[in-house]
Amino acid sequence: MSKGKINITTENIFPIIKKFLYSDHEIFLRELISNAVDATQKLKTLASAGDFKGEMGDLTINVKIDKEAKTLTFSDNGIGMTGEEIQKYIAELAFSGAEEFVEKYKDKANAIIGHFGLGFYSSFMVSERVEIVSKSYREDTKAARWICDGSPEYSLEEAEKQQRGTDIILHIAEDSVEFLEDSKIDALLSKYCKFLPIPIAFGEETDWKDGKEEKTGKLKIINNTEPAWTKKPADLKDEDYKDFYRELYPMSFEEPLFNIHLNVDYPFNLTGILYFPRIKKNLEIQKNKIQLFSNQVFVTDSVEGIVPEFLTLLHGVLDSPDIPLNVSRSYLQSDQNVKKISSHINKKVSDRLKQIFKDSREDFEKKWDDLKLFIQYGILSDEKFYERAKEFCLLKNTDGKVFSFDEYREVVKINQTDKHENVIYLYTTSPSDQYTFIQEAKDKGYDVLLMDGQLDSHFIHHLESKLEKTQFRRVDAEIVSKLIEKDEKEESKLSQEQKDELIPVFRSQLPLETNYTVMFEGMSEAAQPMIITQSEFMRRMKEMAHLGGGMGFYGELPDSYNLVVNANHPLIHSVMKQKDEAIGEQIKNIEAEIIPLESDKTDLETLKKGKKEEEIDQIEKDKLEEVESKIRELKDKKEGLLNDYGKQNKVVKQLIDLALLANGMLKGEDLTRFVKRSVELIEQ
Ligand code: ADP
Repeated sequence: MSKGKINITTENIFPIIKKFLYSDHEIFLRELISNAVDATQKLKTLASAGDFKGEMGDLTINVKIDKEAKTLTFSDNGIGMTGEEIQKYIAELAFSGAEEFVEKYKDKANAIIGHFGLGFYSSFMVSERVEIVSKSYREDTKAARWICDGSPEYSLEEAEKQQRGTDIILHIAEDSVEFLEDSKIDALLSKYCKFLPIPIAFGEETDWKDGKEEKTGKLKIINNTEPAWTKKPADLKDEDYKDFYRELYPMSFEEPLFNIHLNVDYPFNLTGILYFPRIKKNLEIQKNKIQLFSNQVFVTDSVEGIVPEFLTLLHGVLDSPDIPLNVSRSYLQSDQNVKKISSHINKKVSDRLKQIFKDSREDFEKKWDDLKLFIQYGILSDEKFYERAKEFCLLKNTDGKVFSFDEYREVVKINQTDKHENVIYLYTTSPSDQYTFIQEAKDKGYDVLLMDGQLDSHFIHHLESKLEKTQFRRVDAEIVSKLIEKDEKEESKLSQEQKDELIPVFRSQLPLETNYTVMFEGMSEAAQPMIITQSEFMRRMKEMAHLGGGMGFYGELPDSYNLVVNANHPLIHSVMKQKDEAIGEQIKNIEAEIIPLESDKTDLETLKKGKKEEEIDQIEKDKLEEVESKIRELKDKKEGLLNDYGKQNKVVKQLIDLALLANGMLKGEDLTRFVKRSVELIEQ
């Protein structure tokens, strides 16, 4: 037995590494199994080149737990190592690699993502002692045993091993006993090794017999050595892709919509299968993630930075040996290979969507609801994707019909162009709440789009900036005749004075918590007597503020609506008549008082004209002030009278409630009162 000292200058790297990679301790398993797979594949390569002529035998890699001895052993039948090789590759190279690693990252512990780079050395993160027993494939070589506790001291001696290959025996440390649990190792193997190209055995196969699970004595192989993405697309059927999806995400019960098989070997290596999942209403609930592999070794399932953000919504696998894995994320994002891979995937995804759109439009339309969020997210976040997606992105109307952007333009161009040559796209965010408005728009021959998705408000904004001379307007933004401004105008049958008198009457019954502007429009007699609208601009600003668009000011403003009164509706005229009958006389008297005061005021103002402030007589000033205050008083009195009248007028209340009801804004106690009042009115 010989003793040696590993050539390391920093004697305490081990604790440093252990601390750095605390949360990543488990990666030792991936590292050791990868080494075993490499050693086995090297043997295969040697055999096919004729450099190894012996029996290959069973190449399965075995993982075993011995609870009593507190060991976890990885055994392979690969090329093995001689004592000298262990000294060279493990003692010198692996340890110096570890030292280099610490040198490189000691100042930026956070930048370490623990992907590769540590190799064999990582086994010390969970072991108090590591033993290697190995026999090289070369004839006439002796087996060797190497033991080391992570310090630079190690021992190397001859061993008894007859069979070619390597056993790595980890004497698990006190603080890592979890790695002696079958369930833990099982979980780690299925996380990191599920698709490795060499069979890996752990535990025993079980069978169900008479309602009981029984061991069969057969070794259980935990991996699929030929996952679908490593095969040629021509050799795979639709069903195979679906099966592979289930293999990837055993807990998923939804089938994917379609898939893309990636297969690139120039200018970089990339294989993989991406699946379009059904994304219903919510972007947040995404549990299945794209898994990134490097030569079939699982690396990570956080692929942010490698694929464009919106593509992280997809499911599936990517496998590329060209993605640098032992570097920080910020470095990854600036890496040229990663950039190329990212734009390649982007293009492939849009090509595939375009192909389905062109070749099987019906299928595409059927799947639109599940694809919409994904495509909109892509359009919003990626300019290049928008350029391609504008051909196949669809707009759906309230009748469930779908159109491409160009097709829709044709549908609405003639009827929905306003007097400024803008094409107005009408939409609803809730067909039930905005039912009346949708109906009115449709009656006018307009088309209404359904925009009730999570991203629709952003999407509308985006399209307005992209599509020329196009504006989106929610159906309840204006009364129908003003939704799309044309030159025609209906006459109003109310004079300005009449309108002025009606405003306080109607205002008296409006809910206090919201801001209302009362306005009159000359609509047809058949239209509603009153309609509540909400300005497109204000509503959108508020929505954006809520969605975190950074417009906090708008978010804090109270809701504001318009109460649009149909100046030509018979009921409005009858309210006016009733009002005249009830308080017309009093109003007239007040007005009669105001008239002479107004003329006094004008006289006093004419006197003032052309004079400088100091030239005006104080008496005149006082007089003017007195007249003005009297006028104000009388006007307030008039307004108070109109207000009081409005408050007790059941028809006014009823009309306003009906308008609120049509917007889904009449609720709770107000709704109950409305029902009661309606009954009373019917009984009258
Ligand atoms: P890496 O695998 O990145 O080269 P490691 O530290 O994991 O670094 O391993 C160092 C070297 O030790 C390997 O390159 C290989 O030559 C040798 N080695 C490790 N494990 C085995 C094994 N199971 N069989 C044969 N050789 C091995």
